[in-house]
Amino acid sequence: MAKKFKPTFYVTTPIYYVNDVPHIGHAYTTIIADSLARYNKMAGREVFFLTGTDEHGQKIEKAAAEKGMTPLQLADSVVTRAQDLWKALDISHDFFIRTTMEIHEKGVQKLFKNLLDKGDIYKGEYEGWYCVSDENFLAEDVPLNKEGVKVCPDCGKKAAVVSEETYFFRLSAYQQKLLEYYEAHPQFVRPPSRMNEVANFVRSGLRDLSITRTTVKWGVPVPGDPAHTIYVWFDALHNYLTGIGWDWDMTLFKKYWPANLHLIGKDILRFHAVFWPAFLMASGFPLPGCVFGHGWWLKDEAKMSKSKGNVLDPYVIIDALGPDPLRYFLLREIPIGLDGNFSHEGFIHRVNSDLANDFGNLVHRTLTMVQQYFGGAIGEREDESADDRALREMFERVKAAVLGHYESYAVNKALEELWTFIGAANKYLADNVPWKLTKEPDKRRRLARVLWQAAAAIRGAGHLVAPVMPGSAKKIWELLGETAAPFDVPFADFRFADLKPGQAMKAPVPLFPRVDLKEFLAAEAKHAPPAKAEPKEKTMDIITFEEFKKLDLRVALVLKAERVEGTTKLLKLQIDLGTEQRQIVAGVAETYTPEELVGKKFTVIVNLKPAIIRGVESQGMLLAGLTGGKAVIPFFERDIAPGSVVQ
Ligand SMILES: [Zn+2]
Repeated sequence: MAKKFKPTFYVTTPIYYVNDVPHIGHAYTTIIADSLARYNKMAGREVFFLTGTDEHGQKIEKAAAEKGMTPLQLADSVVTRAQDLWKALDISHDFFIRTTMEIHEKGVQKLFKNLLDKGDIYKGEYEGWYCVSDENFLAEDVPLNKEGVKVCPDCGKKAAVVSEETYFFRLSAYQQKLLEYYEAHPQFVRPPSRMNEVANFVRSGLRDLSITRTTVKWGVPVPGDPAHTIYVWFDALHNYLTGIGWDWDMTLFKKYWPANLHLIGKDILRFHAVFWPAFLMASGFPLPGCVFGHGWWLKDEAKMSKSKGNVLDPYVIIDALGPDPLRYFLLREIPIGLDGNFSHEGFIHRVNSDLANDFGNLVHRTLTMVQQYFGGAIGEREDESADDRALREMFERVKAAVLGHYESYAVNKALEELWTFIGAANKYLADNVPWKLTKEPDKRRRLARVLWQAAAAIRGAGHLVAPVMPGSAKKIWELLGETAAPFDVPFADFRFADLKPGQAMKAPVPLFPRVDLKEFLAAEAKHAPPAKAEPKEKTMDIITFEEFKKLDLRVALVLKAERVEGTTKLLKLQIDLGTEQRQIVAGVAETYTPEELVGKKFTVIVNLKPAIIRGVESQGMLLAGLTGGKAVIPFFERDIAPGSVVQ
């Protein structure tokens, strides 16, 4: 017989921005991907599941400078936030890609170079709205305000039209090809409403895409022209190729590419459904099977965002209940394409009714009776009755429906369907009254049958729910005395009747404890950070004289000055404060040479909290005027002793 090759399934999440604190929204995408990865493994496919972090760009550069770190140091220090959360949520990704990895950066440069040689990338002039204070071009879709200008969404300042040299991707050449592709592959973008949105956007006309910046330094340099940095989307999207071995493990790459499923939030649909397939067409790669734009979890009917202060911390739930109730709720509550509203009441209601009452009770009752009536191992059982057969046949029907729903990414429907079976199993127990049968000695074999039937139903439900609640499914199978884990048994090999009657089952442990809403909310209030206040109109802050007196201002004499390595703005100064010597870091190197400052006297805030700036400790701050972004220091022009009070 010819060797059969297993089909493959390659699923991705977006790479998350490394400096974000991951919240329920990030967790949602990753949990969907994980459940579908686990389902596909159990469906007999070879699976690759990729997630990771986007670590380039100006925001990282800026945040790092504020903390006195290099951008990579900052990324290294925060990337664990995502990695730890995925561990806590039982996420089973095969590879975690970071865009700062060499395999990725080299791949992006090579892809860029290939398209440049081919003519799909060319150098031109980019004109756009530019924010001077953030040194950044605004996104094209920022609207004009009433005065006909664009306002920077980051800092609120007016932007100006500026042009710079840039590399363009010839997106306009792909308009027709994309439309033809959508036409031939209506499942390429899901749900269908989003396919329409994308096709309309493309039909309205595509302009060539600027894909490099000279104003951004932290990123992948353009090969052969390092003054230009490859802009975020061209860099980030290609992680789906480099993360699966492109150009460093071509066996792996060929095995899994094209991806079956890119899961994304609907806000980044255009990048994935227009730019990404155009990049791939240009480079000659086959296109992924599906870009699925899932909905958002809203909190109090508003999108969660840091600035609104309504971000949900997943650890509040994980710490109290473990990962499975959260995984179950997010996947059960809404279809993947729609928005959902997260409320604690809704969450707790579902956990209590579906998990604690329906499934948890079924397991608990059954295992308790197996212990009490049979000492843990069900004995000789009667033949299958009509009622028994009905439950078994229902399982087969439900199983086929559940697998069909998983297959079409309708996880909420899979769970809904499965719970009809759990309901039927509870009803089976109620109808067959094992607690009465145990009182009739001649019904011993019937009692064994009923409990075996219930245990087999639990085993089957545990198997079908394993992609969504892996930890609980594994625990349920252990309680039933199974030696295999549910994931080790492919769906095709699972048989309802394979539960061995004599096998030793364990006493029940609480699987899904009931949650008390009040206690839960109290725990959450302690856990959650205070909401950020709404940004106020800028007004002049008045301080009292007492507040001013808290500043310890002193005359400082510069003993020694040198540049801070790797910077153009910073000087490291050794200063004399009369009673002590200190080191401060000051952003004055664009106005003064180190030699110029030695022997000079100026004012320093002495009681400012010490800070590390670019890896150098600064114990205090000098006062200077700012002109055109450059610092001018007011020196003392008459003799005054170092350490004298300034007031
Ligand atoms: Zn700005």
